Amino acid sequence: MIIYTKRQCKKYIAIALFFVIIINNKYKGNKSLLNHEKIHLQQQRELLWLPFFIWYAVEFVINYFKYKNWHSAYKNISFEKEAYCNEHDLSYLKTRKYFSFVKYF
Ligand SMILES: [Zn+2]
Repeated sequence: MIIYTKRQCKKYIAIALFFVIIINNKYKGNKSLLNHEKIHLQQQRELLWLPFFIWYAVEFVINYFKYKNWHSAYKNISFEKEAYCNEHDLSYLKTRKYFSFVKYF
């Protein structure tokens, strides 16, 4: 399910949680952004949700200590690396193998 919101938030333009993708209405029609969030939904399903969020948070904390920078910590999370590397390939999810995010450690 995709929900478009008019709520303004400078930092967050989209988020994928469980079965839902919430996107700022300003980015409606951005296929790469939608694909990025769909990749996250697939990652979440593969890890049965809760382990995904724990793993995501642990990687963020480790990266934060490593890079001493919020943005670098976020961009270097393996889930984000896979999503950013493949968001422009709109057929990526059709050919993606299970647990492909492990290649981005
Ligand atoms: Zn992302």
